[in-house]
Amino acid sequence: MPSRDPVGFLGSEYKGLVEAELDWKLRVLQGPSTTRCVVDGKQVLMLCSNNYLSLSNHPKLKAAAIDAVKTHGAGSGSVRPIAGNMDLHMELERRLARFKDAEASLVYQTGFAANSGLIPQLADEGDLIVSDELNHGSIIDGVRLSKADRAVYKHCDVADLEKVMADAEKHIPAYRRILVISDGVFSMDGDIAPLDSIAKIARAHGAMVYVDDAHGEGVLGEGGRGIVSHFRLGRNDVHVEMGTFSKAFGVVGGHISGSRDLVNYAYNKSRTWLLSGSHPPAVVAACIAAVDVLETEPQHVRSLWANTDYFRKGIQSLGFDTGKSQTPIVPVMIGESGAAKRFSSLLFEMNMFALPIVFPMVARDKARIRTIMNAALTRADLDEALGAFEKIGKKLGLV
Ligand code: PMP
Repeated sequence: MPSRDPVGFLGSEYKGLVEAELDWKLRVLQGPSTTRCVVDGKQVLMLCSNNYLSLSNHPKLKAAAIDAVKTHGAGSGSVRPIAGNMDLHMELERRLARFKDAEASLVYQTGFAANSGLIPQLADEGDLIVSDELNHGSIIDGVRLSKADRAVYKHCDVADLEKVMADAEKHIPAYRRILVISDGVFSMDGDIAPLDSIAKIARAHGAMVYVDDAHGEGVLGEGGRGIVSHFRLGRNDVHVEMGTFSKAFGVVGGHISGSRDLVNYAYNKSRTWLLSGSHPPAVVAACIAAVDVLETEPQHVRSLWANTDYFRKGIQSLGFDTGKSQTPIVPVMIGESGAAKRFSSLLFEMNMFALPIVFPMVARDKARIRTIMNAALTRADLDEALGAFEKIGKKLGLV
């Protein structure tokens, strides 16, 4: 008998994470995700949720969810291809396709399930996937599930992408397909992918373009339609527009939009979609209501941008560096991990909830407080937040 301990690694690995202070310490939100909320028993100003437009607590979304439970029950009963495809799921896809001005849309259980289930079906053996070095983990996992060759280009670097594509043309035998994939808005820095240039380069090489617009939807483009609308690109430029209902839409669920062929292919091939139970009615109805709110209440996107401009300028004028931020994701650069953690704790003491982003999520010397702006923050909220950043920045000798 081997003297192997089959589960010893569980405790020892965890201990290692705790000792290195790399373990996640879960905070508890007691009540809805609103800008003034209760976290770990403390009334705080929320400065780090992805609920950009505050739709998670919008009366229309809540009413739609409650109604759907009454009319359709608590669960869907199955995966969609068997017995769990309700009229509500079909309605959401119709509404989303209309919102995105696409031929068709497909809703997945999560954005993670969309990326990990679809990417390996779009490119496989004999193909090439070309990916931005800072793409989201769900894209990385999707790529890992594929037998395609991989090439990574420097973050948002169009010249490097050109070089990677030129090298790909030299491959023997010639690649059957090339898939270029990028986040639309990068979640650590809040910068926007140069999707117009990416699409142009891809077109020159007959490559397919896939954008993950999780942080661009509800934020960029006409009425928050996302990055494809922001750059005024068409369906022949960007073939797969992927997104999530878990951020600006305020609920949960992933989705893709594009051609009818894409959607027909995707739902027949994505194992995450085929083999996982469908959304409960309350979730789907709330998502439909979120699309509705985006179409009929443009004020939320407007105030999100007004708040973003005000806060980013305010933070910069205090002497902080906000890196490459162009969107409501406003990182406040601190430098060393310990200082960023201390900064976040001091913010919490002053009733501000904003978490530090440290190594290994970002480089060791690029630790930051990642703030995320919200449409429902008031000027008084933002001034209070700026006051706290100034006070702590001075205390820690950062400004
Ligand atoms: N892509 C990006 C860029 C994301 O930030 C996230 C969420 N963190 C996802 C995909 C996954 O989306 P979901 O929450 O719907 O699984």
